[in-house]
Amino acid sequence: MFHSTTSRGLTLAEIGHHRLRDSPFAGRGQTGRITLAAVVLRPRGKARVAVAALLAAVAAAAAGCGTASAYADPPAAVGTRAPAVAAAAPLPLAGKIVGIDPGHNGRNHTDPSFLNHQVWNGREQEDCDTTGTATDGGYTEALFNFQVAGYLRADLIKDGARVVMTRTTNDGIGPCVNQRASIINASHADVAVDIHADGAPSWGRGFTVLEPVADGPNDRVIASSARLAADVRAAMLTGTAMPVSNYDGKDGTKLRDDLAGLNLTTVPKILIEAGNMKNPADAAMLTSAAFQRQVAAVLLRAIVMFLR
Ligand SMILES: [Zn+2]
Repeated sequence: MFHSTTSRGLTLAEIGHHRLRDSPFAGRGQTGRITLAAVVLRPRGKARVAVAALLAAVAAAAAGCGTASAYADPPAAVGTRAPAVAAAAPLPLAGKIVGIDPGHNGRNHTDPSFLNHQVWNGREQEDCDTTGTATDGGYTEALFNFQVAGYLRADLIKDGARVVMTRTTNDGIGPCVNQRASIINASHADVAVDIHADGAPSWGRGFTVLEPVADGPNDRVIASSARLAADVRAAMLTGTAMPVSNYDGKDGTKLRDDLAGLNLTTVPKILIEAGNMKNPADAAMLTSAAFQRQVAAVLLRAIVMFLR
């Protein structure tokens, strides 16, 4: 993520909002809404109960990844008061604020002087940001980060969260890493994730979850961030085929004291390096929408577990 690889030839207009809504949970959310609407509008009597039970069963079958209870009541609970039961089911992240920092930005490479200006990262001065890395085929890390963030944002909103993003397009420059931390801190988020992919030697494979080290500003979120890191690591291993890194950290996690996003955070936060863009096997995964959706689903599941 800190390698200064210049991005090449990317059509940024490809990032349409419709794609960002194309998440692994779109079907589940739609099913949930259809269930509620159908139950409310059905006529009285046995037909309504039968239809409600059927729709609830469909919703339960369609739900996935640990949040089924928010969308589908157990069939036994449907009964003759299905509308009231369905309406009362709370979303798992209702009232929660989640910060997402998609690392870098799609046009960072166009302004080296901006990127190189020095900012305080909690321990020392460092560059405002970098371009991020890219695959050998030219797929940029900035785009990967942004795609995963978009899928995750949609998933979080469906589960009732309010989402704070450090950038909302992939065709801009910045903000600097310290500003990204400030945006999320100011939102008083309950939890936050920094999304990256690495640019390591091509033989290296796998993901690493980076955790903060106490330095003053982040003192009160060290233990909680470690717990979040464990949740994300476990969810990655069960929710994707990406292995733990064979070149960085230990068994998928690593303490880092040189990153503004972790040094300056006042909310529980981790940074995930979801794979190595310079490794052909990892790159094939990182550039696929299917894997990007999986990473978003993993982060959603870890966040729900963390906030439970
Ligand atoms: Zn990065």
